[in-house]
Amino acid sequence: MNSAEVVIAGAGIIGLSVAFELLEQGVPVRVLAPADETGTATLTAAGMLAPVSEADVEHVDLIPLALDSLARYPDFVRRIEAASNITCGYRSEGTLWVALQRDHRAELDHLLDFMADRGMAAERLDARSLRRLEPALSPRVVAGCRIPGDHQVDPRALREALFAAVRQLGGQVDAASACGVDTRDGQLAGLWIRRQGKDEPECLPCERAVLATGAWLGKDFQGALPACGMRPVWGQVLRLRGEPILDHVIRTPDVYLVPRADGRLIIGASSEERGFDASARAGATYELLRHAIAAVPEIAELEFEEVSVGFRPATRDHLPVIGASGTSGLYLCGGHFRNGVLLAPGSAAALAASMVAGQDHAELAPFSPRRFETAT
Ligand SMILES: Cc1cc2nc3c(=O)[nH]c(=O)nc-3n(C[C@H](O)[C@H](O)[C@H](O)COP(=O)(O)OP(=O)(O)OC[C@H]3O[C@@H](n4cnc5c(N)ncnc54)[C@H](O)[C@@H]3O)c2cc1C
Repeated sequence: MNSAEVVIAGAGIIGLSVAFELLEQGVPVRVLAPADETGTATLTAAGMLAPVSEADVEHVDLIPLALDSLARYPDFVRRIEAASNITCGYRSEGTLWVALQRDHRAELDHLLDFMADRGMAAERLDARSLRRLEPALSPRVVAGCRIPGDHQVDPRALREALFAAVRQLGGQVDAASACGVDTRDGQLAGLWIRRQGKDEPECLPCERAVLATGAWLGKDFQGALPACGMRPVWGQVLRLRGEPILDHVIRTPDVYLVPRADGRLIIGASSEERGFDASARAGATYELLRHAIAAVPEIAELEFEEVSVGFRPATRDHLPVIGASGTSGLYLCGGHFRNGVLLAPGSAAALAASMVAGQDHAELAPFSPRRFETAT
């Protein structure tokens, strides 16, 4: 074992992005990737890169990180595609936000005011202009706007490419999960891990580690961690396929539709508090299809491919935890809730920079894990 090696627990988009950034800076990494991927948010996510339409009045601290992360995306994808030879489905056609009823108009006005206040670009459009851009939209559309700054990527392709890039750059990937920390005098000395197929845990010596275990951060884990109250927020999306019928991401107040270049259409997303129950629900499927077909009637003709469930990782204040924990050498990167795909490049670049420099990155101050007291 190389004492400079950083052990990264978790192989969702966050753990793999951190691994990739560290490797590109010459830091050796070992990624712990459990074989059971049930509920992994990255595998369910629609892949909207939406700092504008997802901007949240209650979490304005997140907007600079979100905009920085989106700005990094083209280069991030280019580097990963070059290292892996796998394309990641990055598309920049933008998003159309559409109102289907009169009371959606008030929401549209609010969204446009909020974006104007923050200098975010959006262009109000009438129904005819919207249907000129996307002829498959329902004749019921009453108004909307075009948000050129909201893009998309295919999270499954990106994760596969990240895995390949990490291996290509010399990173190790172990089929194992982290179950605790070993410390000496407040300094990390190792991670307790469980290897695939072995019951007994073993201690993997390391001086630096990153916990990027999504909604599972702190679950069944021995050792003092900031009490961020991580919980899973159940989300369900549908995957349909057929001839491509849309170019833009379409959002209404009730549903979003994310078209992939290969003709797949992702319809999302439900959001409920169900703990770690990964089962799909008929009612959620019905609601998603009902709203999707109301916005784009031709969706009824597409072939149904998959319903999938993932756990959005949510902290107590719904902001991410990125940076040093109370234990020297132990870092957290998680809690990206509804926007982890968007926030991956920015979070990973900032965390890797602070780990290499050995000091906190100013941009990460609002997300310091130390804003929560430490619990055992
Ligand atoms: C329905 C839905 C739609 C979404 N749509 C979008 C979207 O359009 N745009 C966007 O930006 N975001 C979206 N998100 C949010 C996004 O998916 C998440 O924020 C992001 O994927 C979180 O990534 P992660 O790597 O932290 O967690 P995950 O992707 O959940 O990965 C965590 C990994 O850690 C592993 N793990 C668990 N325990 C351990 C352990 N003890 N040791 C080692 N590994 C462990 C798990 O197996 C898992 O593979 C969506 C989420 C859902 C559920």
